[in-house]
Amino acid sequence: MRRWAKYLPITSDTPMVSLGEGDTPLVRSRHIVQRVGCEELYFKLEGCNPTGSFKDRGMVVAVAKAVESGAKALICASTGNTSASAAAYGAHLGLLTTVMVPAGNVARGKLAQAVMYGARVVAVEGGFDVCLHLARTVADNHPVRLVNSTNPHRLEGQKTAAFEIIQEVGGAPDGVFIPVGNAGNITAYWKGFVEAHAAGMSGRRPRMFGFQAEGAAPLVLGQPVAEPKTVATAIRIGNPASWKGAVAARDESGGTIEAVSDQEILDAYRLLARGEGVFCEPASAACVAGLLKMAGRGVRFDRQRLVCIITGSGLKDPDLASAGDTKARPVPAELDAVERAMGLV
Ligand SMILES: *Cc1c(COP(=O)(O)O)cnc(C)c1O
Repeated sequence: MRRWAKYLPITSDTPMVSLGEGDTPLVRSRHIVQRVGCEELYFKLEGCNPTGSFKDRGMVVAVAKAVESGAKALICASTGNTSASAAAYGAHLGLLTTVMVPAGNVARGKLAQAVMYGARVVAVEGGFDVCLHLARTVADNHPVRLVNSTNPHRLEGQKTAAFEIIQEVGGAPDGVFIPVGNAGNITAYWKGFVEAHAAGMSGRRPRMFGFQAEGAAPLVLGQPVAEPKTVATAIRIGNPASWKGAVAARDESGGTIEAVSDQEILDAYRLLARGEGVFCEPASAACVAGLLKMAGRGVRFDRQRLVCIITGSGLKDPDLASAGDTKARPVPAELDAVERAMGLV
């Protein structure tokens, strides 16, 4: 908030707090770049934020503004990361936080965070879209502030990632690849690039390429999906709140919003970890899956500089990460047993 204060809705009454959000690494690809055939490919590691996802960038602003306006309690609907982030900043600023999550469809690490930060967790028998509707209604009828990305302060904070990318690569890249769920983030990035261009921070604006999971691709189909399904729970959303923002980002930037299958997502998820040393959550891998898919069907990125937004940490979803792995069998504490286990003898 301090670094980009002049671009944020901050007043002298806004509490200037921080858990260390933002300023995340931009890591240059060494392996996937060769498959894509572009000049430079970078991964913006948003999983390095304090609660392990980009949600912290916007949440710190939304919660600070809530405190500034006298709010005492927060509520959000969440597929997991928003709840972890709201709970953390709620705890930091002494607010009571309620999170509404789809029962049985939240990665274990995210739920553990909300519980540890002391939030009240309401597991709803329904999907994210129902949770958001209920949370909105609660916020309309009670003195509780909604901190979903429908809260404009969230997008203001999230747009700072675009500023960081411009600073680090020296101007906007040619293309930005980003997973799309509720569509707040693609909307925020585009807002950031447009504002940066207008303020003279960058001579141009990038094309925005958004990716949804095949079973949860309302923006690709052009209509809401009643029962969204995908292994990538963070983007398991059937009726994105920032629908118009995502379409505007796509059309104004000359980009596209496409779908990738769960298999393509999981392949990219493993490739990022093994080929690049980047362990992200499946939703984050959707954008890399999309980039590889485009390159695979012959889209050329020669001489282009591209950035993939790696939205969250792989540690969020330990069950998926270790699924299918045979349990490492213990060996006796003896050198020859270790050498045998390593295939050296
Ligand atoms: C929230 C989230 C997304 C989707 O962002 P939207 O703003 O909802 O489109 C993608 N990946 C991760 C890890 C997330 O937490």
